[in-house]
Amino acid sequence: MRVLIVEDEAALAFRLQQVLEGAGFSVDVAYDGEEGWHLGDTEPYDAVVLDLGLPRIDGISVLNRWREAGRTMPVLILTARSRWSEKMAGFNAGADDYLVKPFEMEEVVYRLRAIIRRASGHAQPELTCGALRLDTNAGRVSVAGVPVQLTAQEFRILSYLIHHADRVVSRTELAEHVYDRHFDLDSNSLEVLVGRIRKKIGAEYIQTVRGQGYKLTEPEA
Ligand code: CA
Repeated sequence: MRVLIVEDEAALAFRLQQVLEGAGFSVDVAYDGEEGWHLGDTEPYDAVVLDLGLPRIDGISVLNRWREAGRTMPVLILTARSRWSEKMAGFNAGADDYLVKPFEMEEVVYRLRAIIRRASGHAQPELTCGALRLDTNAGRVSVAGVPVQLTAQEFRILSYLIHHADRVVSRTELAEHVYDRHFDLDSNSLEVLVGRIRKKIGAEYIQTVRGQGYKLTEPEA
């Protein structure tokens, strides 16, 4: 899963980036409202962490612009203000959740996972497809109860596919959601990674749809 952090406090942005990358997210960072708005408007993020007090364009205006333009990615707002009117303004602008500073770093991780899951229609932290299980909180994968060890990249790919199970995900879409914007898209390396995942979970879960992409689906019994 790929997330955008829009936060002008460099130390906090750096810490958030480290924690989210450590939790398996691919992360881009913007340090002002204008850059944040532009990235969120042009790149396909699975979620955004948006500070409200930002230089150039404030967080509420950034969120309003995205929503008016039809950008629907889930947004978690960070606010130093605990006044209800400020939070309400955030929700009215289309926020999905909020945290008041200072907050526990781990809480950001858990809240992000929850809003990403809900955005793709999943209420529970454990996603399943047949005998395949992926626990988004624990970062664990198993098949028929047997644990499967995946690398961070493999986990990101499988996680995106299982969030969007039973539909074809193109290679471009998959690459855009598992790599940050500084990564050179290379469909061969994606191919290799999917091959490795198939070896670990069983070849039948991820179908290659010729000319279109990949589809994670329950194998026929
Ligand atoms: Ca700020």
